[in-house]
Amino acid sequence: MTHSPIIARTLSSLHRARAELGKRNATVALVPTMGALHDGHVSLVRLAKRRAKKVAVSIFVNPAQFAAQEDLGSYPRTWKEDIARLAEEGVDLVWNPDVKTMYPDGFATRIAPEGPALVGLEDKFRPHFFGGVATVVAKLFTQVRPDMAFFGEKDFQQLRVVTRMARDLDLGVKVIGGAIIRERDGLAMSSRNVYLSPEERRTATVLFRTLKATSKRLRAGDDFKVALSDGADAIGKAGFALDYLDARHAETLVPVSSLNDGRVRLLVAAKIGKTRLIDNIKA
Ligand code: AMP
Repeated sequence: MTHSPIIARTLSSLHRARAELGKRNATVALVPTMGALHDGHVSLVRLAKRRAKKVAVSIFVNPAQFAAQEDLGSYPRTWKEDIARLAEEGVDLVWNPDVKTMYPDGFATRIAPEGPALVGLEDKFRPHFFGGVATVVAKLFTQVRPDMAFFGEKDFQQLRVVTRMARDLDLGVKVIGGAIIRERDGLAMSSRNVYLSPEERRTATVLFRTLKATSKRLRAGDDFKVALSDGADAIGKAGFALDYLDARHAETLVPVSSLNDGRVRLLVAAKIGKTRLIDNIKA
């Protein structure tokens, strides 16, 4: 049975709704999103429903994490469909502030994450990004005051940055990661996949295929450098402009050169046409 979530757009209505959710000590989970919801987001909502009594989803396209040349203006917005899906999933609260509510006139504070936010992956190509993410996530946590929050492994570096920040700043929120949800052909679901032309969409499967092939080679004992450079070639030949394909320690995200260096994650980011895609898998 579907039931419409409470929709809060102002801080006072959010605080009223939060007090209602937290009655009888009910645990509250938050799933932060930028809307344009797909099965990846829904998987986080379902995970949250299993772990907490009440589930809040935030929908906020955060200008602070977009650079001037990026797609803030054209980012897909599908409000009606989003709310219908969240109602179907039994979400209790949707927090949908406008930009002025999140960043009132005179706003002048920004969190500067370090550690996993400065390892030469996304941070190298989107230097503004994690400052924007950390700032908005810290605000979402203090606004909604969830007991736990769910983030996708799709944005693997972001998951590590947010986990570190929640600990470092004693935000009192347990950050929990959810597995990547993929299309049938392996492409990681993303709100940005709608930008792909039919031909780009077909080509896009090369990212996951290359991650899998590279992982297989590493597990077979191939040299890291050679396997990664062959993977980079395959992605380039398919028509992508590669930002990075790299093997990193799954916790710290520092570079690794052997599977004996601990848990290893393979991460990729590449652009096809105007669309930048990211993906990652366990090595
Ligand atoms: P976004 O709306 O793109 O900011 O994503 C909101 C949350 O959903 C983030 O924690 C993402 O990591 C997560 N997410 C996005 N795509 C996927 C996916 N394909 N599988 C699992 N989680 C995802």
